[in-house]
Amino acid sequence: MDGRLKGIRFACSPNQLKTPVQYRKGESDLVLRRGKWFLVATCDIPEPEPYAPADWIGVDRGMVNLATTSDGSNYQGRRLGRYRRRQVRKRAELQRKNTSQRCPRCGHTERANRPGRDHFHCRRCGLAGPADVVAGVNVRDRARSAWVFVTAPAPTLSLNQRGLGGCDP
Ligand SMILES: [Zn+2]
Repeated sequence: MDGRLKGIRFACSPNQLKTPVQYRKGESDLVLRRGKWFLVATCDIPEPEPYAPADWIGVDRGMVNLATTSDGSNYQGRRLGRYRRRQVRKRAELQRKNTSQRCPRCGHTERANRPGRDHFHCRRCGLAGPADVVAGVNVRDRARSAWVFVTAPAPTLSLNQRGLGGCDP
């Protein structure tokens, strides 16, 4: 069989039919591959609207409370267990970035900001509070600046590393 044919009937599942019926453009090809026939249709599917979050909630995963968010809520219990295990691998990375020792007000990062497991006290500006809430705020701030970076137009100048993730010297 050579060339083009019009109006060829074919059958497929209703689910498979949805995309070509809605978005098919131009010609389709009937292809024989390893003894099976495939209908190859070009579909022009519009991009979905980009999603823009109103804000972020930073979550600190800790020893006492399973999770503490940047608005100060604590979460405990089995429901979070699965989520927690899934996040364990990411945890080391977060700790490396000093989430727990960084002051969200002045940016000062020092081990001494964290005199105990439960308390945060900035050695430079004096900000004090529950350590897990402070860590949650830091995570939220990092998400905010990362989001700005991801959605910003391509930079024409060289990137300033310190500006990307809100990291400190
Ligand atoms: Zn401070």
